[in-house]
Amino acid sequence: MSPDSRLRARALSAPRLDRHDEQRQKGDWLSRIWEHPSTRVLRIDQGKAPINGASDPATAALSNTEPRLLLTAPQGELPDTALYIGEVSIEDGGSFPEGAVPGHVVAVPISNSSAGNGRVFQAQTTTWESLRSIGHLLPAVEAELLTHATALTGWHASSAFCPACGGVTEVRSSGWARVCTRCDEVHFPRTDPAVITAVIGADDCLLLGSAVRWDARRYSTFAGFVEAGESLESAIVREVKEEAGVVVEHVEYISSQAWPFPRSLMLGFLAHTNDACATADQEEIREVRWFTRDKLRDDVTSGAIALPPRSSISHALIAHWYGGALPEQDPDSASPI
Ligand SMILES: [Zn+2]
Repeated sequence: MSPDSRLRARALSAPRLDRHDEQRQKGDWLSRIWEHPSTRVLRIDQGKAPINGASDPATAALSNTEPRLLLTAPQGELPDTALYIGEVSIEDGGSFPEGAVPGHVVAVPISNSSAGNGRVFQAQTTTWESLRSIGHLLPAVEAELLTHATALTGWHASSAFCPACGGVTEVRSSGWARVCTRCDEVHFPRTDPAVITAVIGADDCLLLGSAVRWDARRYSTFAGFVEAGESLESAIVREVKEEAGVVVEHVEYISSQAWPFPRSLMLGFLAHTNDACATADQEEIREVRWFTRDKLRDDVTSGAIALPPRSSISHALIAHWYGGALPEQDPDSASPI
């Protein structure tokens, strides 16, 4: 599959889940789902979910085991904190854990205070992992489940009070809304747009930057939040000018990636510039470098630089420019990363 196809696949693969946005607004939807024999429960403890199988990529490769979400049947009464996530399609359900019939998934946030009825079920082989650490190793439908659950539980954890009047809010719509008990304002989960862009010069070289907070050898694309009242294009022009000192002439949208840490949506672009001279701002970006494809391959295989993780949209944008799978560090090179 070409990088371009992978990017398109990333964008088009969603949704694998049916969120039942009309049904979930009904007051008894969640309680009916809870009683359904095919329903499965995904427990979330401060952004982490129970995982069966090897979570470490190296271990997974050696043992040929694939990490999977631990989904369990509902037990007891419907918890007050339960949130509807979605229904897994028949096609995706064929590979569902434990051979379970495809069905609805309900997220139940737990905490240390409820650990007695939360983590007690876990087997010795179960570890608790975040979407950030495990998402790229899960089957696509399970990664989508965990993405939704991470975003929704994160929103509820910070939305107990009304931003309009400070009143206490209560859950509605099976977890997809909260209403203020004082002013009746209805609140929905919000998403913060952020742009991420690969900068390409007139000579088809790629400009990458190394952020001040990273290991000095790590290079990546440029990213930043969209500010209030700003268009996506304006945000890219501003961010690239600020961080790398080059003027963007035009941009093209490629794909997006949900990034619920806590609630971002990464919108991926290519940005084209005629400027050859680039300068790091020294505040966010320590250094910027132009790469030909040969230079990028040589620097990565030698360990002189490291690229972003394979699961990131940044990696996909760089691969899009590169024209194929990105090189990896040669294990025999002298500089381990
Ligand atoms: Zn209010």
